[in-house]
Amino acid sequence: MATSLPPIADVAGVIGTAGHVDHGKTTLVRALTGTDTDRLPEEKRRGISIELGFARLELPSGRRAAVVDVPGHERFVRHMVAGASGIDLVLLVVAADEGVMPQTREHLAIALLLGVRRGVVALTKCELVEPAWLALVEDDVRALLEGTTLARAPMVHVSALTGQGLDELRVLLDQGLEHAAARLDRGLARLPVDRVFSVSGFGTVVTGTLTSGALQIEDRLELLPSRLPARVRGLEVHGSPVTRAAAGQRVAVNLVGVERAEVRRGDVLATPGALGAHQLLAVRLQVLPGHVLEHGQRLHLHLGTAEVLCRVTLLEGERIAAGGQGFGLLRLEEPLAAGRGDRFIVRSYSPLATLGGGVVLDVGRRYRRQRAEDLEALAVAERGDPAELLREALRGPVPRTLAQAAQMAGLAPQEAAAAAAALLSQGRAVVLGGSGDGLLLLEAARWEDLRQRLTQELREYHRLFPLRAGMPREELRRQVLGAAEGRAATAVFATLVAQGLVRSEGEFLSLPGFRPQLSAAVQVQAEHLVSALEAAGLAPPSVGEALEAAGLAGGAAQQAELLAFLVSSGRLVRAEGQLYFGARAAAEAASRVRA
Ligand code: GDP
Ligand code: MG
Repeated sequence: MATSLPPIADVAGVIGTAGHVDHGKTTLVRALTGTDTDRLPEEKRRGISIELGFARLELPSGRRAAVVDVPGHERFVRHMVAGASGIDLVLLVVAADEGVMPQTREHLAIALLLGVRRGVVALTKCELVEPAWLALVEDDVRALLEGTTLARAPMVHVSALTGQGLDELRVLLDQGLEHAAARLDRGLARLPVDRVFSVSGFGTVVTGTLTSGALQIEDRLELLPSRLPARVRGLEVHGSPVTRAAAGQRVAVNLVGVERAEVRRGDVLATPGALGAHQLLAVRLQVLPGHVLEHGQRLHLHLGTAEVLCRVTLLEGERIAAGGQGFGLLRLEEPLAAGRGDRFIVRSYSPLATLGGGVVLDVGRRYRRQRAEDLEALAVAERGDPAELLREALRGPVPRTLAQAAQMAGLAPQEAAAAAAALLSQGRAVVLGGSGDGLLLLEAARWEDLRQRLTQELREYHRLFPLRAGMPREELRRQVLGAAEGRAATAVFATLVAQGLVRSEGEFLSLPGFRPQLSAAVQVQAEHLVSALEAAGLAPPSVGEALEAAGLAGGAAQQAELLAFLVSSGRLVRAEGQLYFGARAAAEAASRVRA
């Protein structure tokens, strides 16, 4: 089948809107993209967004972003949570005439709890207000963002009515997404389903934002939590058929093997075995200011596009106070596709309010309240396995001491020593010198790379300078181990020498088989040069004349190389200035002087 792979590099990421109802989100998305995201008849009639809306934005750099327009009304916050899961950048919309309102705060809090790190603020309807008022609103928004990861988000004044600020906004969105593409397209495929329908003649179609991995036609997938197998018959990205869809794209997937009635919003389409369906989630909980979380409280859990009821077991106390944190176990009333590291939001059962959110630390395992060992196990789950953390810190490019690596990995000295021992015994790290805290370590694969690069560099040096004894250590250190401290470089060289991979003579390093050598032709001429200088005794001609007479009229650099070689191999002696004597003549002169 002829496959025209859709370009992946131009997928810049997913932008999600956030902000109070009627602040101009949908209008702004339409002004930017030309797409009206309020497409339901009811939305048109009531003039508010209920469902998520999707549009494609062409960025000034030529890349494209998906825009998820969320409803602002308080009653539809659950749709907002579904939309904000998996976005790379939040476009916080605040109407200049109204300023910060309740859902401005709530949407921002949700985006932050879901781990969104980039944002742009658009002050909309700017043509309606005086500059002095605009400045006040701007201050309010700055105060709202202070202390959050979005504190330095750029702010732009726009008006969908006059077109003011739209070009600037496009540039800011483009810049904000600059590094987002790196996260995309890695890992196993995961598509949280936000809509399901059936198309006559085709069968079941689901849509969602592909949050990781890629999808191709004919891929075999698994639907969770039902674990039904499904196959991809067709793919569409932004309404155009494709053979492959990449992470960060809005995708419609035509599935074979599942009926329309077997799929719901909140289900996840994933690489088989990549995720499980669970009813027990061990989590780190973060409670928003102005709210409290009680042990045993019934909650709405929003994860991805799913929403389920659950009860929280607080593992450490009776409650988590406003703005506080703690470990908890969420017992779900129905199973849900979830994995370690997933972010979620919790809302109170009744009345509905966003209480907080958190991160999944473990799935499917019971943890007991007030048990030190269980809390410790969760702390480890949160931080990760010490050996893995240490290995990350040892991934070079240059060796680090155990103390440095422990600090980077956030491990206590004893923990780090145990982790290092484990890595060494599994051959996943190597020792390059030192001892105790100063043990110099490098991840095994990195050491392999480094060895290859160092020997490659020496090989190249020998090729360029066949007459030199070897490469000066300092030069090799600068070329390959630029970031290493002197001590680390010394240890690396010593290890290479000990392993017989490199030879060390004075300040020079060389490969074991290497000998400085003249080519046959140069050899003959060099002999002429030496005998001419020997014959001249203590009255040698200028070196330039001698070289020319010997037929060695090459470039100055080659001449210098040759002279240095003849000096280092003991055939010539160099005196003050540019005077060269034959070694024998010089020796005779010296013994005469002594006599
Ligand atoms: P949303 O609920 O945040 O999606 O808000 P909408 O996009 O539906 O806009 C709410 C109302 O504000 C609509 O009547 C828009 O026409 C109006 N509106 C949006 N942007 C502007 C603007 O820049 N200037 C003015 N004057 N009105 C605007
Ligand atoms: Mg809207």
